[in-house]
Amino acid sequence: MGKRANPMAVKAVLTYDIKEAAAALGKTPATIRSWIKDGLPVMSSRKPYLISGEAIRFYLRAKYKAAKRPLRPSDFFCPGCGGARQPVGMTATVWPMKNRTVLLKGVCTKCGGTCTRMISKSRLGEFAHRFQLSNKADSEP
Ligand SMILES: [Zn+2]
Repeated sequence: MGKRANPMAVKAVLTYDIKEAAAALGKTPATIRSWIKDGLPVMSSRKPYLISGEAIRFYLRAKYKAAKRPLRPSDFFCPGCGGARQPVGMTATVWPMKNRTVLLKGVCTKCGGTCTRMISKSRLGEFAHRFQLSNKADSEP
């Protein structure tokens, strides 16, 4: 995930087009467009899209608040559709990472993309009760 945009970087009383919003927030226009797809409300249905600063603030605060919500033990996080999801068939591959952490990778039940969960190695046993885990080496030569 990239650096978080500061909601206060836009003025609530102003409206922004995509380029202006991107510049104010230090993001690319592509990022702003992905936010619009994701639900950031625009004021006009045709291009150029105008977005109120207030809507941007509201959207960003809600987005970051949602990201902070802790995952339930049975959830992975899917960056593709942006939320807590369960992996298909409750199966996941175990990818050893640096230090004492491992990355669990599964297939998102909602969008079919890759959803992940980072856990410490010491919790592998606990997760093995809940999920069908296989080692990266076994499934992906
Ligand atoms: Zn997904």
